[in-house]
Amino acid sequence: MKIKDILKNNKVTVSFEVFPPKEWAKLVDTKAVIAEMVKYKPAFMSVTYGASGTASGYTSEIANAIAQGGVTPLSHLTCVNSTKEKVDSVLDELKANRVENILALRGDVPQDYDRGASHDFYHASELIGEIKSRGDFCIGGACYPECHPESKNRVEDIARLKDKVDCGLDFLTTQMFFDNEKFFDFREMCAIKEINVPIIAGIMPITNAKQIKRSVELSNCTLPKKFERIMERFGENPDAMKQAGVIYATEQIIDLMANGVNNIHIYTMNKPDVAEQIMKGLSAIINEQS
Ligand code: FAD
Repeated sequence: MKIKDILKNNKVTVSFEVFPPKEWAKLVDTKAVIAEMVKYKPAFMSVTYGASGTASGYTSEIANAIAQGGVTPLSHLTCVNSTKEKVDSVLDELKANRVENILALRGDVPQDYDRGASHDFYHASELIGEIKSRGDFCIGGACYPECHPESKNRVEDIARLKDKVDCGLDFLTTQMFFDNEKFFDFREMCAIKEINVPIIAGIMPITNAKQIKRSVELSNCTLPKKFERIMERFGENPDAMKQAGVIYATEQIIDLMANGVNNIHIYTMNKPDVAEQIMKGLSAIINEQS
């Protein structure tokens, strides 16, 4: 099913994310993670592409495992470090595997990247046209409530986002954020700029203190005082930190839903227990709003 159709009916949706393994031998573990996660009936499940050193070659395998679990898969695809030939072969493989949804991304620019040299793609917007030319895919893109780290300012960031959406995006998923007010401001700016596609709020349950330091560094997102105090108090106790992180994410989602945000994507990071705890914490709320 196309994600744009899943999002159409204004119902609450909660989706999950998995990342592929670094090596073929671990694929079986990733499939076991997926088998656990589909039990909580997410609206769809995304599979990342080449992020954090994971292999990009298992995208179709993982998408198939998700589909076999009765859940709609969304495959991420990056372009900056790729060629038209490689992108086309991935798209053809996804099409052959009946994967209908793609998150079109630039990816992180390699340190030795020569901007002056000839490349097939640079920005995600250039990838959108290529995806459209290879099949009838539903295409999503990334957005940044607290601004992409490379953007000069928020005005510039939103202007580029508008251009990207106008290239043919069906929906957006946000970078993680920990302060809902940042999302509400961003939603308003998008409305002013007439960015009218559904915006799925990306929520990262922080389950250990080390993870948050790295995530915040990479993503440019701010940590509210409330969360800093949780880390100071529980950061050295893994079980307590995990419980607090899951509850914080659950509360964030409840507040988003109370403010009319119906579409939530949880960065579940291959942790079925985290998905389970959050879904249990939301069970009556999801049913109430469905
Ligand atoms: P773009 O849309 O190209 O934007 C990048 C920067 O360029 C922004 O500052 C933007 O304002 C600017 N810009 C865009 N278009 C133009 C233009 N035409 N002219 C001038 N400036 C422009 N990374 C992975 O490697 N694998 C993944 O699976 C992955 N999944 C992600 C999922 C989500 C929901 C998010 C939010 C990020 C994900 N990332 C992933 C990280 C992403 O690749 C990085 O954030 C990357 O730095 C930017 O990607 P983008 O698609 O937003 O790029």
